[in-house]
Amino acid sequence: MIKFDFNIDCCGCTSCANSCPVEAIAMKQNENGFLMPVVNEAVCIQCGKCERVCPHLNIQTDVSKYSLSDFNGKNTYLYYLNEKERNDSASGGFVYAVSTYFQQQNGVVCGCIWNKSIVAEHICSSEKEDLHRMQSSKYVQSDLNRCFSHIKKELAEGRKVLFCGTPCQTAGLHFFLGNKEHENLLSIAVICHGVGSPLVWEKYKKSLEKKYGGKLLLVNQRDKSFKGYNQSFCKYTFKENLSNNTSATAKTKIIGMPTFLADPYVFLFTDNLFIRNSCCHCQYKGINNHADIIVGDFYESLVDAGNMGCSCLIAMTEKGDTLIRSVQGVVKQASLHQTVGSNAMLWKSVAKHPRRDEFFHEMENYKDGDIKLFLDFLPIRFKIKKVLNQLGLFNLYLSLKRTYKRYHCK
Ligand SMILES: Cc1cc2nc3c(=O)[nH]c(=O)nc-3n(C[C@H](O)[C@H](O)[C@H](O)COP(=O)(O)OP(=O)(O)OC[C@H]3O[C@@H](n4cnc5c(N)ncnc54)[C@H](O)[C@@H]3O)c2cc1C
Ligand code: SF4
Ligand code: SF4
Ligand code: SF4
Repeated sequence: MIKFDFNIDCCGCTSCANSCPVEAIAMKQNENGFLMPVVNEAVCIQCGKCERVCPHLNIQTDVSKYSLSDFNGKNTYLYYLNEKERNDSASGGFVYAVSTYFQQQNGVVCGCIWNKSIVAEHICSSEKEDLHRMQSSKYVQSDLNRCFSHIKKELAEGRKVLFCGTPCQTAGLHFFLGNKEHENLLSIAVICHGVGSPLVWEKYKKSLEKKYGGKLLLVNQRDKSFKGYNQSFCKYTFKENLSNNTSATAKTKIIGMPTFLADPYVFLFTDNLFIRNSCCHCQYKGINNHADIIVGDFYESLVDAGNMGCSCLIAMTEKGDTLIRSVQGVVKQASLHQTVGSNAMLWKSVAKHPRRDEFFHEMENYKDGDIKLFLDFLPIRFKIKKVLNQLGLFNLYLSLKRTYKRYHCK
């Protein structure tokens, strides 16, 4: 029966829960809101399957040894899709293009959506509408539910399956499926900073609903419709006036805040205040994600891609490489250094925030719907970045920072 310090090392991939033959494992939120396995010992038959499929137990590695050179010899690319279809994607629209390709081949796609309650979860679908819902990054940990079991069933029936998620999710799926190659499965891992607590997101949502006087209907944390890719916005759509209007007459209200500059939730997320503990010593960097392709932001973008974003890609397997070369869109091969040299989240884990414990302790005292919880933890850097932006100097500061990182990467 699986047993280790889940609160520290478990990434929440659900592989154990999906594999248990007697359903003795349930995924439940811990006090900080992260899904953790809870084993019902009375039901467990000690078969040991959960231990065999757990990526944490199967990948024992010294995380400080990861470096950019882990990817030496891999083919690397820059990519962008046509502007219309790329608009709703986080960067160059690569994942959306591959999703469409799978759908056209009668395959099934498993990806992360905002559900009706604006909770991030993975679903398996081949509906075009759902592929749209999977577009863009959700900066909160997604609930995989029973998706791994669903994927296993689809593969057994000979269907093509595309999975896209965080590196720990692609690793979890790999071990869940028996630690071997599956011809009909293609998995894509996003370059991953870390994931936020679903409970913190829930509190933030309620505080926005209170502040703007409406029910949250839609969210895009990387919206390009205000100022393009270089300054993405968090776009929130509310149904106004919770009590006074019937759904037929209620108006919608749209609020936009620059994603990495003015949205308190995303700012504190990128500051690591409420990310999962396992993200601070992530085992799934380097080649340990077992994905066919890694995708991330190419922040510098390509001139011909305009201001709608560009993706960087690493082909981790031959299957991944073949797919990249055949998918619709503009694909340009480039060096490892040029594509991902400044993207340190490929090999580095984020540091634990010094006020993380204080934040979660404080959260217990806050009633739902109080934005003060978030405002109180915003650092002075938040204000400095805002001023730089108002002076039109923020993009210059960013490009200097990236150039420094590129020439100081290992
Ligand atoms: C939590 C998170 C952190 C990230 N951190 C970085 C980073 O530090 N550096 C970097 O270069 N890139 C990072 N990315 C990846 C980047 O934001 C884009 O997702 C990536 O460039 C793909 O863009 P696209 O236009 O090809 O994908 P799109 O067409 O926009 O598709 C997005 C895909 O991401 C998946 N996805 C969205 N949210 C989640 C989630 N919460 N959990 C699992 N899967 C999800 C969806 O299933 C979808 O398939 C991160 C993504 C996420 C979700
Ligand atoms: S040992 Fe077997 S029965 Fe027990 S929890 Fe793990 S998978 Fe389930
Ligand atoms: S890492 Fe995945 S398989 Fe291992 S205990 Fe956590 S949820 Fe289960
Ligand atoms: S940083 Fe690592 S552990 Fe955290 S969500 Fe990303 S892949 Fe998983």
